[in-house]
Amino acid sequence: MMPLTTNPYDLSTLSEYQYYTDIQVNQMLEISQKSFRKWGKTPLKKRVKFIKNLIFVLTKKQHLLAEKCSQEMGKPLKQAIAEVKKCSLLCEFYLEHAEKFLQDEKISSDAGESFVTHEPLGVILGVMPWNFPYWQVFRFAIPAIIAGNTVVVKHASNVAECAQLLEELFKEAEFPEMIYQNLQISGSQVKNVIENPIIKGVSLTGSEKAGATVASTAANLIKKSVLELGGSNAFIVLEDADLDKAVPVAVTARMQNTGQSCIAAKRFLVHSSLYDEFLKRFTTEVKKLKSGNPMDEDTDIGPLARVDLAEDIEKQVNKSVDMGAKVIIGGRRNNAFYEPTIVVNVTSDMPLFNEEVFGPVAPVIAFDSFEEAVKLSNYSDFGLGVNIFTEDIEGIKEKISLFEEGAVFINAMVKSDPALPFGGVKKSGFGRELAENGIKEFVNVKTVYIA
Ligand code: NDP
Repeated sequence: MMPLTTNPYDLSTLSEYQYYTDIQVNQMLEISQKSFRKWGKTPLKKRVKFIKNLIFVLTKKQHLLAEKCSQEMGKPLKQAIAEVKKCSLLCEFYLEHAEKFLQDEKISSDAGESFVTHEPLGVILGVMPWNFPYWQVFRFAIPAIIAGNTVVVKHASNVAECAQLLEELFKEAEFPEMIYQNLQISGSQVKNVIENPIIKGVSLTGSEKAGATVASTAANLIKKSVLELGGSNAFIVLEDADLDKAVPVAVTARMQNTGQSCIAAKRFLVHSSLYDEFLKRFTTEVKKLKSGNPMDEDTDIGPLARVDLAEDIEKQVNKSVDMGAKVIIGGRRNNAFYEPTIVVNVTSDMPLFNEEVFGPVAPVIAFDSFEEAVKLSNYSDFGLGVNIFTEDIEGIKEKISLFEEGAVFINAMVKSDPALPFGGVKKSGFGRELAENGIKEFVNVKTVYIA
């Protein structure tokens, strides 16, 4: 059967396409390798010039890109536009900082002179998800390309047209040929690609299962991998928190992108003294969100990206309810739509607590002491980030190390920012994207020693 892309809003077919054959893929890798030989030797100053063109093309095509994203994976249009704008911001960030990040570093040692240089590795594979179809790819590809690598991207099968548009962006920005290639292949073809000696590293954003498969194939061949996997971030409202600040952030942190974000707040832990008030206000605000056609400018909540993803959420909620949880609002599915939902009486043995819930469902749980909040927060296989609301900034700074996370955000929601390293610990993955750390993931840090 030919792969399809389907609009999750009305389940209409958007396109039918064919996966490239392994022979075609091998030819594409050869081309990528050839173009790396030139690109890797192009001076950095020249490489970053193409990023300027890319910003121009992104801006010009903003609406087309956003609409395609809304159609293929159901993201409300205004959020899709924000995603495209964020891609430009990332480009601007590296335009300004890449030279500094990649310059030679002098190091004092027992040598007469010693320093490190940063050299590209070659052709890098990206395996990318549908939830932020442009941003996730930019976050991987831009720093890798600026560092002198070329990239091939296997995008998620349900966003095949977004994937094609990405390749066209690079062409239109007049990058030297085939710096960026879209590998229209299935998940099962990825192994072959990694096994090709041309591929020097792989970066995957997606599920734990896909991450484990890809990273083990790479490890068997001693190839570098970066994994950005799931998360089940806690949103902790401490006893001294200001609810005027916490409640609006809680709504966005859970409901943005219809809950389909690895860094979304997925478990709401609220001090018992504020629990009733938080729940009341949070419920009022969540009820105001408008579900509907993602193409409408005023829609806040679209369908989930695929019907099977909505069915997974339904199972997680229903199983938790069978175990004693109680739905306060929402809790119903209609095809790919799942209502914004708030659930109470959730315990740590329920799927709504101990699995990643990739949709608009918020379990709200009371705690009595800071120690209990830390314990509940860390009671997860994941370790991507935590949101903490408190008025005692100095006090919480002393306690950062208690949280087993890649990021701790105080009085703000966990978000990705080009200037800040992004990544997790535990089953959330390894390696970092963005910032200086991100651009150094796929380089050879070469030590030079002159006696
Ligand atoms: P997947 O992890 O299956 O998809 C992510 C990417 O990996 C896609 O390009 C997919 O290709 C590819 N892929 C899948 N299986 C393999 C494999 N065995 N080898 C190589 N590549 C593979 O995510 P799903 O779309 O199935 O979503 C399931 C869950 O994963 C979500 O509910 C969520 O919990 C999590 N997820 C997390 C994301 C994050 O941002 N961290 C993003 C997306 C999902 P293809 O589409 O062709 O299968």
